Amino acid sequence: MQLDMHFYGTYALARAAGIPQEDAYTIAYAAQYVDDSTKQDSKQHEDGGLLYGIATSHDGGQCVLNYHKDVHGSREEQRRVWVPFHFLPGAEGKDFEEQLLCKKNSKPAQEMMQNHLRLAAEKPYGLELLGIAAHVYMDTFSHFGFSGVSSSLNKIIDGSIKPLELKDPKMADYVLSKLGRFIKRYKLGSVISFFAEESTGSLGHGAVATFPDRPYLKWCFEYEYPHESTTSSIPIEAEQIEVRDNKVHFFEGCELLYHYFRGFAGARYPEPDVIPFEDIADDIKEIITTEDDCHGRIDKWRALSWKNTPVISQKIRYNKSDWENQKFDFDDSEESKHNISSNVYRFHQAAAYHRYYVLKDLLPAHGIAAY
Ligand SMILES: [Zn+2]
Repeated sequence: MQLDMHFYGTYALARAAGIPQEDAYTIAYAAQYVDDSTKQDSKQHEDGGLLYGIATSHDGGQCVLNYHKDVHGSREEQRRVWVPFHFLPGAEGKDFEEQLLCKKNSKPAQEMMQNHLRLAAEKPYGLELLGIAAHVYMDTFSHFGFSGVSSSLNKIIDGSIKPLELKDPKMADYVLSKLGRFIKRYKLGSVISFFAEESTGSLGHGAVATFPDRPYLKWCFEYEYPHESTTSSIPIEAEQIEVRDNKVHFFEGCELLYHYFRGFAGARYPEPDVIPFEDIADDIKEIITTEDDCHGRIDKWRALSWKNTPVISQKIRYNKSDWENQKFDFDDSEESKHNISSNVYRFHQAAAYHRYYVLKDLLPAHGIAAY
């Protein structure tokens, strides 16, 4: 999913569920920052204190830098980053590779939500943790059927990916041009092993580019190796065509996330100011089905209102530098301990905890030794 859903959608759902503005902002910011915390950099204070920052996502350059640090090449990094933060394994299937496939609203995803909601109530980094949970949970509604490691199960048949039923012919051109650019970009890097994996489409949903992340898109594709137990492919004349209607899945994710937030708000705030989901369901459906680029979809979220009051107040905007720049305050402050209450310090507390929890606790409990 992209900025429209991870920040603005998350914020709107949190507000509607009765979470006050400031806390909803922290949750939504953390949800989007999972995609923007791409630097594996730490800051040291002259008193000896350290802010240990981890990458919760990667851009291309960072993949190359990290490649040499891994004993097993980029594969360890895939397991540290893509598996816990973007492709939570569904833990179903007959072998390890199938179990790693992400599954929509999977059992591990539900367990993670329950665990993090419980912790969010008692930890100082609870809101940041809840934001990370919202990111990971919502990703299961777009990334299902793919895994966060290099796997033949992520490959699709060349040329099989197609957008379906787009009303605006310009959007079809736009989506296809993005697909073309995406594939070209990754082919360029194919001298590096990591990129070779991405260019052949064996890592994550690299093979289907950003198709799963566009809420309005209905599209189809065909896996190179059909999945037996984790997706619902439709056999058409001996072919196994996967048809995905993103808006159905995105809407389902929104409704479920809203209810998790409702549970949190009910337990944490004395009299939460709640908007019933039914009252905004049609508007959310309309936002999700809007055929537009990310900016256009963000404008739609920003225009969402209930009883003539905007759900997202005008001053609310996402700027990825806000928390990133807080890292510089760490070494500038009088004592390192003063920064323990900063959002960026708390985000990295939450991210480190989440990674440990998924890789060393949740997945092993489901019989998966991924890391
Ligand atoms: Zn993600």
